[in-house]
Amino acid sequence: MTTRALFDAALDAARNWHDALPAARDFCAWPTDIAWAEHPPHRLPAADLITSDPGFATPDSTSVLRALQDIADHVEWRHTYTVDEVGQRFLDTYGWFELAGPEGHFHSTHARITVGYWGPNLYYPRHQHGPEELYTVVSGHALFRSDGDADATLGPGDTRFHGNHQPHDMRTTDSAILTLVFWRGDGLADTPKITPP
Ligand code: ZN
Repeated sequence: MTTRALFDAALDAARNWHDALPAARDFCAWPTDIAWAEHPPHRLPAADLITSDPGFATPDSTSVLRALQDIADHVEWRHTYTVDEVGQRFLDTYGWFELAGPEGHFHSTHARITVGYWGPNLYYPRHQHGPEELYTVVSGHALFRSDGDADATLGPGDTRFHGNHQPHDMRTTDSAILTLVFWRGDGLADTPKITPP
């Protein structure tokens, strides 16, 4: 398959994943303005880790997991956070990319659809952002905490909503986690900010 065909397959798999999850369907319609946008690949260690150590997947999540693994060498991986904010070990085993959105491999202004990976035993510090967010877990598991909500350990097929500027954090323990994340609302190209103490 060409690289472009792999991206098309990943987008299709993400759409099937979205359409099969009631919480994702309720959160946002699948964008109707999606158009291919050329972005050069940017490699980070996460490109290999999502294949070598994705965490447990279920039969329902295996096809989207495989489709995301297939584009891992071709995507524009990002870190956003600095070593001062999260530490070097975090940066060595974390990465995200924008599948669709204002700066995604597929351009859209209707929603932002990103893929995030965290290795085992990482703490993703409290942070927040204006757009509302829905995490969907593709593989692995982690503990999600957010102000005003009960803590929850979430695995494949589980979802978690974060509201406008609602501080939240996440901790992985004995497993990595791979997530497909949807944003809606104003500021889709914004960067999450670490919540001040
Ligand atoms: Zn968030």
